[in-house]
Amino acid sequence: MIDRDPNASGGQISSEPDLSQAARSDRGGATGLAYGMNPTHVRPGWQEYFLKVMDTVAERANCDRGRAAAVIVKDKRIIATGYVGAPAGLPSCDEVGHLIKVAYDERGGQHKHCVRTTHAEANAIAQAAKHGTPIDGGEIYIRMTPCLDCAKLLINAGIRHVICRKRYHADHDSVRVLEQAGVKLTVLSQENETYDQMN
Ligand SMILES: [Zn+2]
Ligand SMILES: [Zn+2]
Repeated sequence: MIDRDPNASGGQISSEPDLSQAARSDRGGATGLAYGMNPTHVRPGWQEYFLKVMDTVAERANCDRGRAAAVIVKDKRIIATGYVGAPAGLPSCDEVGHLIKVAYDERGGQHKHCVRTTHAEANAIAQAAKHGTPIDGGEIYIRMTPCLDCAKLLINAGIRHVICRKRYHADHDSVRVLEQAGVKLTVLSQENETYDQMN
C-alpha cells in the first residue's frame, strides 16, 4: 500500500508500512532469516483454479437441473461470472419449482428444459455487458457443454475457447456449431452431467 504521510516534509510518498525493527528483520534479506517459505504447498494449475472458482460460483445457482456456472477468463484474469438462475427479482426454481418445456429433436428424441432460468453462460455475458467489460477473445469455464442457444451466444461474444468439465446430454448441435465457428472446445470428461427428468 502506498500512503501519503501528511507529516513528511515535501509530502513524500512512502511505500513502507510502519514496521517494528523485529518485524523488519523477520522479512528476510541480507541479514535476517528468510520467513514463510513453504516448498510443499502445491498451487493449482490455471485450469484447475478456474474450475474451482466455477464450482464456487455454482453454489449460487438456483435451478438444480445441473446448477451450472460459468467463469469468463481473459489473459488469465477472471473478468465475468454467471450461474443458472431466474432473472433478477423473479422467483427462482428453488422457490417455486421448475418451468418445464418439452422439445423434440430431428431424431425423435424428447428433451425436457427448464425455461424459468437464464443459463450460466448467458448470465456471464450479460454481466460483462452490464459493466462494459470486453470479453472478445476470452475463454469460458463451464460445468457441461453448452446448449445450442448458449453456444451461439458464445460464438457471437467472441469467446475463443470453451472448457467444460462434462457433457450436456443434448449437446449434438452446440458441439457442431462451435466447431463450425472455429471455437476451440475442451471437454475434460465424456461423462454426461445428470439431473432429474432430463428426457
Ligand atoms: Zn429450473
Ligand atoms: Zn445454455
